[in-house]
Amino acid sequence: MTLPGDPGEQLPNFLKPGSDVNRNQRKAADRMEARAAHLEKKAAKREKKGKDGSLLRLEAKKIREGVKALRSNGSDGYLAFGIHTLDVAMMKKGTANITAQDLENASQIAAFVPWRGDSSVWVNLDHPMWSNSHGARRTVGHESLHGAGLDDEPQDRPKAYKRGSPAQQKRFYQLKGTDYEYITPELIMDHIYR
Ligand SMILES: [Zn+2]
Repeated sequence: MTLPGDPGEQLPNFLKPGSDVNRNQRKAADRMEARAAHLEKKAAKREKKGKDGSLLRLEAKKIREGVKALRSNGSDGYLAFGIHTLDVAMMKKGTANITAQDLENASQIAAFVPWRGDSSVWVNLDHPMWSNSHGARRTVGHESLHGAGLDDEPQDRPKAYKRGSPAQQKRFYQLKGTDYEYITPELIMDHIYR
């Protein structure tokens, strides 16, 4: 993979084994696994009553795919790259699943997956999120769901972010209660880390 900017350190298993962030990654995987099991149970109950449980099963499946990445030691290709705000800002619009607006606010990007379904995560090591365990767990979980093929903007921009710009926050709340709640990373993670 080639991307503009200096990829810096390559960090297998998303982030360095033994680091605080790696611990957060394991904790996020535990919580996500519990959530997936809960969703599967709920789906089975619905199906028993002759109702459709497919969206719940889809959500659980995507969460389990994310967990697989979070638990990886890197040998199966799940990698994280540590970069800095300046590297993020130097990326081109349309590259790396980020918009022009994102690039103007590069310091606000904690991490991203370059393309939906990609097995790498790019981590902005300058972001204060990495010293906040709740935020870090929520963020690694969110990114792992992009690796599982899910999108922040299932229909149109803006992206659905709980703590983004006013338009992104509005989008987040608009998607609540719709079918997108089952397949949008920020909404899925909101059930796991409020
Ligand atoms: Zn995202």
